[in-house]
Amino acid sequence: MGSLAVRQAADDLGSASIPDRVAAMARKELAPLALAIDEGAVYPDALLRRLGEAGAWGSHQPLNGAADLRCAIQSIAVLGEVCGATAFMAWCQNTLVWYAANSANPKLVARFAGKFASGEILGGTGLSNPMKSFFGIEKLKLKGRKVEGGYVVRGALPWVSNLGADHFFGTIFEREDEGGGIVMFLADCANPAVTLLPCKPFLAMDGTGTYAVQFRDVFVPDELILAEPAGPFVKKIRAGFILLQVGMALGLIKDCIDIMDEVDAPLSHINRYLPQQPIQFRELHAEFEKETMALARDPYNSDDSYWRRVVALRLRAGDASVAAAHAAMLHCGARGYLKSHRAQRRLREAYFVAIVTPATKQLRKMLAGDEH
Ligand SMILES: Cc1cc2nc3c(=O)[nH]c(=O)nc-3n(C[C@H](O)[C@H](O)[C@H](O)COP(=O)(O)OP(=O)(O)OC[C@H]3O[C@@H](n4cnc5c(N)ncnc54)[C@H](O)[C@@H]3O)c2cc1C
Repeated sequence: MGSLAVRQAADDLGSASIPDRVAAMARKELAPLALAIDEGAVYPDALLRRLGEAGAWGSHQPLNGAADLRCAIQSIAVLGEVCGATAFMAWCQNTLVWYAANSANPKLVARFAGKFASGEILGGTGLSNPMKSFFGIEKLKLKGRKVEGGYVVRGALPWVSNLGADHFFGTIFEREDEGGGIVMFLADCANPAVTLLPCKPFLAMDGTGTYAVQFRDVFVPDELILAEPAGPFVKKIRAGFILLQVGMALGLIKDCIDIMDEVDAPLSHINRYLPQQPIQFRELHAEFEKETMALARDPYNSDDSYWRRVVALRLRAGDASVAAAHAAMLHCGARGYLKSHRAQRRLREAYFVAIVTPATKQLRKMLAGDEH
């Protein structure tokens, strides 16, 4: 299905906007699963596919050289109000769509863009290591060499999410032949030379289909090359990559405000002594939402000032996620300290917003202007 077809299919599902439909599915279908996802007992692949059918992964595909990420970010946010892990998987899927829909490889676009956008094929992104390598934090972990009809790739990535046996993800290798340079490609988890290894249990995010991925001389055909050289392509997609992450923060902060409101009636007489109140987070949330929606209309903007606004917003969104979840814990007191209360889950999820690449420390390095 092309981008128009996906939008048409979404429109056919009813008159409600895509984020409204996603919000209804989040309340009805995701809320009952959130605990099991948090515990790592469930990877909600069937729900992710249904969300795709409802248009959740298709709205940000470029059309006539322009793209609008607002609807995708709002959809991630409404999922994030209910479950941070699912908001992250939504980001993974949307990012995969973003890569495929922006590729200049016509065979790849024809075969994958529509199927990723409709949720027929699920997957994610293994760009943490490359993103860190661009800013001199670590070296590229995947190496490739040119062969007839494609490349042979070897190496390993420690964490890639939203994966399963038939999933795909976008990542980058460094050419180790005389050609040099970096190449972005789609990794096919069904390739027998690709191994998914379970990770040790995390603090949160265990239901996100996260694996260490080994590449043992994997043949990557030309059809799976997203961009070669990858440098200009990364510059094109990087603002979208980061802006979509802000959806995770918007949803989480919103629910932390709700948690504080929920204990207002019984505890306001004592909670009013706490330094951070829901009203402050409401103002912050509104400010972030406004800035995100302004930036999300123009993801191909190549001005340095635009890029710095994107990075600064992402940094503030991570900080505010942790601050809002911390405040929600203090407002709840012992109620939020129960394992059965979502306040402690929100706190664990908030730290993920602050540490997933680009992490707080990397964002600070980027704003300091130290590329290497
Ligand atoms: C639940 C989860 C899901 C993730 N999903 C993805 C994904 O879908 N795609 C993606 O590209 N990245 C993913 N990541 C990686 C993430 O984006 C960060 O890159 C990662 O958390 C490390 O970032 P950092 O800033 O802490 O790195 P730094 O603190 O700078 O660490 C640098 C390097 O140290 C090594 N290292 C540190 N701790 C460990 C450890 N316990 N085991 C092995 N090596 C270690 C790694 O090589 C790491 O990259 C995921 C991480 C987690 C925890």
